[in-house]
Amino acid sequence: MKTLKDLFLDELADMYDAEHRIIKALPKLAKAATCSDLKAAFQSHLKQTEAQVKRLEQVFQSFGKKAKGKTCEATVGLLKEGDEIAAEFKGSPSINAALIAAAQKVEHYEMAAYGCLHAWAGLLGNRPAADLLQETLNEETDANRSLTKLARASSNEEAMCESDTNDSKTGMRNNSGILRRGGRPTFPDRKRKGSVLR
Ligand code: ZN
Ligand code: FE
Ligand code: FE
Ligand code: FE
Repeated sequence: MKTLKDLFLDELADMYDAEHRIIKALPKLAKAATCSDLKAAFQSHLKQTEAQVKRLEQVFQSFGKKAKGKTCEATVGLLKEGDEIAAEFKGSPSINAALIAAAQKVEHYEMAAYGCLHAWAGLLGNRPAADLLQETLNEETDANRSLTKLARASSNEEAMCESDTNDSKTGMRNNSGILRRGGRPTFPDRKRKGSVLR
């Protein structure tokens, strides 16, 4: 008869494998991003992910087990889709939106997994493990939130943000008063009145 502890250790091994795959994928995502803010977001989540692997090892240890991985087919699939969409949209202004979507699917998967792991560790009476897993869950939630912010900044824009374009520095506008590439839209008349649109 399989127990909750078996289920917990199974899922832990699944995430141990998933995090290792994500560590390999994040530098590729950073390289594929043409938005400097998105590149930075991927790089900073890589650092967090390395710490998450260490945390999983501590959780295994707190159950008297050696860390081991078990192929996470879901992460294999999500990353494969990410690869495909990145290749398809290479050179397109929508590449960053494509990368954000792919990455958010991974973060949501992780949030679901760590939410369960955290709850199960609590049910199994292992408070230190539950706390470690909550810490990682918070990081995944924040990572997802940052990606949402970057996606919003890029909506209806060809490029992602002003730091990536020269246009925004020179303030060159097209006829509609919107920056041609990247940057926030500018509304010269309202801006002078201190509009909330800024
Ligand atoms: Zn940018
Ligand atoms: Fe993670
Ligand atoms: Fe999995
Ligand atoms: Fe993550």
